[in-house]
Amino acid sequence: MNDVTGAERSPWRRDPWIALGAATVFACILMVLPAPEPADPPGGPLPETNFAVVDVTVFDGEEFRPHRDVWVEDGRIRAAGQRLALPDGLPRVDGRGYTLLPGLIDAHTHTYGMVLNDSLRFGVTTVFDQFTMPSLAAQKRPARERLARTGESDLFSAGNLATAPGGHGTQFGVPVETLTSPGEAPAFVAARKEEGADWIKIVWEDGGTFGADIPTLDRETIAAVIEAAHAEELLAVIHASRLEHSLAALEMGIDGFVHVWGDEVISEEDAVRFAEAGVFVIPTLSVRVAAAGESMGPELLETTEPEYVSPMQRQTLTQTFPRPVGTSEAAVESVRRLHAAGVRILAGTDAPNPGTGFGISMHGELRLLERAGLSAAEALAAATGVAADAFGVEDRGRLARGRIADLLLVAGDLESDLSRTTAIAGVWKDGFPVEAAWATPQEPQ
Ligand SMILES: [Zn+2]
Repeated sequence: MNDVTGAERSPWRRDPWIALGAATVFACILMVLPAPEPADPPGGPLPETNFAVVDVTVFDGEEFRPHRDVWVEDGRIRAAGQRLALPDGLPRVDGRGYTLLPGLIDAHTHTYGMVLNDSLRFGVTTVFDQFTMPSLAAQKRPARERLARTGESDLFSAGNLATAPGGHGTQFGVPVETLTSPGEAPAFVAARKEEGADWIKIVWEDGGTFGADIPTLDRETIAAVIEAAHAEELLAVIHASRLEHSLAALEMGIDGFVHVWGDEVISEEDAVRFAEAGVFVIPTLSVRVAAAGESMGPELLETTEPEYVSPMQRQTLTQTFPRPVGTSEAAVESVRRLHAAGVRILAGTDAPNPGTGFGISMHGELRLLERAGLSAAEALAAATGVAADAFGVEDRGRLARGRIADLLLVAGDLESDLSRTTAIAGVWKDGFPVEAAWATPQEPQ
């Protein structure tokens, strides 16, 4: 929730947040998960650009489908189905015993350092950044349309967030254009659109849940920014760390929430209101559990080959928040109720906050979503098809004809054991295989 890492040599400064109400105390049972071995690619080096993965269990962005063939042509999916009539001589990957899924989408990151390289190696082929410098986002934007060998995942970004002078988001040493009144909202949003923002992110954060007092936008200004975003045909998403603020934003017509609040468990009635409004929620349980002192970092590092983990991933995964408080169970319970009510849930990590790592933490987020009651298919959909749909990204997120061949191949059956997503046997970006080890990043072309 604090937006960027406190890593050494980083220009970002750590800004702790603690989100859980002390009144809500649950027993937290940390699951002891099996440790899947990193997998070898089936039958030697992975083919590129034009090939097929045959007789594989597919997760298509929505559900599992056994015994499928997926045909990639010129970096896009040409066909996916049963017993496809494939041309003679087309390179084939024997998919028996493996699961093939769309490259994952991390719906909440912050662009810093090796984010795009570190994400890609772990099968996260697209990241939705929730605050970075607009110039950086603009620099990365052309790669989204380019089908070429690359060592980086694609970036979509909110760019400059909407916050008050001195408000959350301004503490990181990056220049932020702020606003103070409803009348400024239309020009503020128009400027973001001009910069190329893919959506508008609003901050409603008074610091109260972590014992601070931070200037924040008032209700009228937040409502005006949402209205202005919609007038410009942009989605408006919000960082709100209190349930009370989240419910107010719902009334204002917000499209999505980039965190689940941690102060109170939502009532079942209010969860139904979220569902009826059609909003989505990116709970970022990875950072919620880390703030509660229950980071997934050790578990993820234990189940991953050391050579795959970059120094920055290791550093941020092993960092801790300075003042861990409470448990994560209130946030998990709210997600459980939202999901049960039918609210769209998206997977996002808020990496590189302490206790999280780019890319690798998406595999922990999937396990946390399962803990909140999502099935394996629902958790994977939260990281693929549902995320693409929520942000209106139509060229990825599903294994379907015409979509970009961003693919993740894992050894084993994810439907029965979701923790096997880290048994990565191959990653393709734009139809090109990606090197697994961090020390040998591929040169962008
Ligand atoms: Zn964030």
